[in-house]
Amino acid sequence: MTEMMKQIALASRPDGAPTPANFRLEELPVPTPAAGEVLVRVHYMSLDPYMRGRMDDSKSYAASLQVGGKMEGGSVGEIIASNAEGFEVGEFVMGGFGWATHAAVPAVGLAKVDPNAAPITYSLGVLGMPGFTGWFGLMEYGKPKSGETLVVAAATGPVGSMVGQIAKSLGLRVIGIAGGPEKCKMAVEHFGFDECIDHYAYATASELNEALQAACPKGIDIYFENVGGKVLEAVLPLMNQYGRIPICGMIAWYNAGGLGADASQKGLTGPKLWRTILVNFLSVNGFIISNHWDRLGEFHKTVGPMIANGSVAVQEDITEGLENAPDAFIKLLTGGNTGKAMVKVI
Ligand code: NDP
Repeated sequence: MTEMMKQIALASRPDGAPTPANFRLEELPVPTPAAGEVLVRVHYMSLDPYMRGRMDDSKSYAASLQVGGKMEGGSVGEIIASNAEGFEVGEFVMGGFGWATHAAVPAVGLAKVDPNAAPITYSLGVLGMPGFTGWFGLMEYGKPKSGETLVVAAATGPVGSMVGQIAKSLGLRVIGIAGGPEKCKMAVEHFGFDECIDHYAYATASELNEALQAACPKGIDIYFENVGGKVLEAVLPLMNQYGRIPICGMIAWYNAGGLGADASQKGLTGPKLWRTILVNFLSVNGFIISNHWDRLGEFHKTVGPMIANGSVAVQEDITEGLENAPDAFIKLLTGGNTGKAMVKVI
């Protein structure tokens, strides 16, 4: 009997926030690996905010998904058949297998994962793409210096928590912004932030700005931009001269095609934004981590031991079952996750 696998396809493009109707669960025969390929049985699949952008048909740094095509994403799994030299059955690999239980993929470009070195989930989170993003963006564009003040939102997520913990280890004052009292408690107690502000507790940017002023008496030297929206508007007036803003993401606007229905919100109009950057001599750098894989080894060498000795803490949010991936992804976009979102597929 033919062995079957499951995958999730993009059924239609979302209009605003995605809904379950935008996704379709499909069953199809497990493929046979061609020459140079391996067949992987996926164990864990990563859910990441960037996937929202791929669902739109708009120009970006990466091509859009086609309607009817498999949802893209990084996963870690076990090789169950190999047609590629140097890749053995039973080995674990990480790669772009998409939202699926199985994938036959070229072995070239796959990263081997040692399940005895660290839990395999770490290859998708704290030691994988998002953790690397936080470390790289902070070190390369944040240029942290001891005694400075850093603010980062989505503070308990895999990017924000890495940014905050590395900055703390370098002697900065670190203020997190997160959604709700539980996440704020986690930012301080689990991840060691100095303070964390609940963005839901402040209805307007000016109220959030006042709370930030109290938490940042010496102003803000580094704003690691993960969210945009109300948080950006609240932070901007507090930036110190020669401050740095690594632009990593702007999730508050992803459901509105990246620019956002509220992109013209009071306080974020082009002239005001530009003038703030000019008169404060700010360095504002956008970056996409896939252009910087050459620094991954350095990241692992630096942060691997910090995870092993407990100075970098980990938080994962694991949903069971591929069929529950759409709901978990929809939740991620509005803060329903606590820690690195992923799906246990096997
Ligand atoms: P998270 O796991 O932190 O999940 C996203 C979080 O964003 C939510 O949990 C929520 O946290 C917060 N959020 C959602 N909507 C809003 C809003 N309107 N205002 C404020 N916060 C909001 O995600 P990641 O750590 O994986 O990613 C963080 C950011 O980094 C994203 O913008 C992502 O796109 C970006 N990124 C960029 C990369 C690059 O190469 N440039 C690579 C990887 C990620 P809470 O409940 O605490 O508000």
